[in-house]
Amino acid sequence: MGVTATAASQAPRARRIFANRTLNLRSIKAIGYDMDYTLVHYRVEEWEHRAYESLRLRLLALGWPVEGLEFDPTLAARGLVIDTELGNTVKANRFGYVVKAFHGTAPLEFEALRRTYARTLIDLKERRWYFLNTLFSLSEGCMWAQLVELLDAGRLPGVRGYEDLFRRVRRAIDEAHVEGALKAAILADRERFVEGDEDLALALADQKAAGKRLLLITNSEWEYVEALMSFVLDPFLPGGDGWRGLFELVICSSRKPEFFSHRLPLLAVDHPTGLLRPCPLGIPGPGVYVGGNASQVEEYLGLSGEEILYVGDHIFADVHVSKDVLRWRTALVLRELEEELAALESFDPFARELAQLMAAKERVEAHQCALRVALQRRQAGYGPPVEESVEELKSRLAALRAEGEQLDERIGPLAQASARVLNPYWGTVMRAGSDKSLFARQVERSADVYTSRVSNFLFATPFAYLRAHRGSLPHDDVFS
Ligand code: IMP
Ligand code: MG
Repeated sequence: MGVTATAASQAPRARRIFANRTLNLRSIKAIGYDMDYTLVHYRVEEWEHRAYESLRLRLLALGWPVEGLEFDPTLAARGLVIDTELGNTVKANRFGYVVKAFHGTAPLEFEALRRTYARTLIDLKERRWYFLNTLFSLSEGCMWAQLVELLDAGRLPGVRGYEDLFRRVRRAIDEAHVEGALKAAILADRERFVEGDEDLALALADQKAAGKRLLLITNSEWEYVEALMSFVLDPFLPGGDGWRGLFELVICSSRKPEFFSHRLPLLAVDHPTGLLRPCPLGIPGPGVYVGGNASQVEEYLGLSGEEILYVGDHIFADVHVSKDVLRWRTALVLRELEEELAALESFDPFARELAQLMAAKERVEAHQCALRVALQRRQAGYGPPVEESVEELKSRLAALRAEGEQLDERIGPLAQASARVLNPYWGTVMRAGSDKSLFARQVERSADVYTSRVSNFLFATPFAYLRAHRGSLPHDDVFS
């Protein structure tokens, strides 16, 4: 994309940086980046399909009947919550009320949903709930839903209920990520699994030239990092400098979120041997490290939390903890935003029609209420005099009821279509019905800014003053 001297205001809408809290990039002295799904974006369906297959083969080796199972990327979405007690996957609004639920791969009908969750408020600190934090969660969410059905059908002997099932799947996923085969498959075919972004190198070069100290802090291991970072950046860096020249510190196997909250030991990776050397006195200088912790990074940089921006895709491990524990400034990378905004744009004419119909329904309802109270007073003989007779009031009420029913007939299909925008089962990531989703609430709480990809900083420039969105309150449109 030709972006020379492109002003932030001209960034394509879906590629803007959205601010929950004002962030002046000029006052940021260091920018730390996560790697997977932040600097390196995967083709989600390919990667997750491969991860799902790794998981399926592991379960097959345990003798589980998973031969016929296939990955369905629409079954799960970032921001959903697994209910390990009941075998469900649920979507909640910003207050933690469940607004949609699936048991296995089948939706819970309205009555069942109400019966199951009317008294439940999701508190993510409880062990019962497991939040789907990143795009890495899609393979897991899909497999979980499918296995619940096998468990219900009595086909998983030895598994003692949903909670036990969940823990076993979790363990298998962890193993699949850690053992070599999955990562080796990705590295063997980077073109297939990695989605390049030619604007990324220039965005980072701008930041570095503007005096920002760039860091890479990733949970991935060094060999994997080296292979992927050079793949996504080196072809776009002039003079064959290589990606390492951009980053003052590279910290691999960082064990986030503990990296931000614990004091884990630091090792330096020697070049070119790859041998590890303990660094008991903290970070000695620029280089590649394994482990360590965020306090050592602050000490080395000589900077405090509000001068460091951390950019990551994991709402808990990257963004929540760094903000909560260290008060770093935070940016969440949310790639779904691009598709979500495109889907919302094409739904916009229907959304407007729906809003008009809802406004008409509100007027009809208000009128009905006024007539009802007039009828009540007329019949009981109290209050100010009512001119119309009881029959007249009743007939006007009947007419309004019919009008309301006609409106409902038009509203119903539009409201259903609106709930299917983006994902046919789960709708958009940021909304739950007309309210914010629980995920949106997490974003609001922990991410100072959010954007669909790192290269959007190219449009914003390293000098941008990103102003907070004014925020909305229920009484905002009282004058509109
Ligand atoms: P980061 O996003 O750059 O910090 O790195 C994410 C790393 O964590 C990648 O190497 C992933 O393979 C790995 N990962 C993602 N999800 C899981 C999981 O559920 N268990 C263990 N490792 C994971
Ligand atoms: Mg990541």
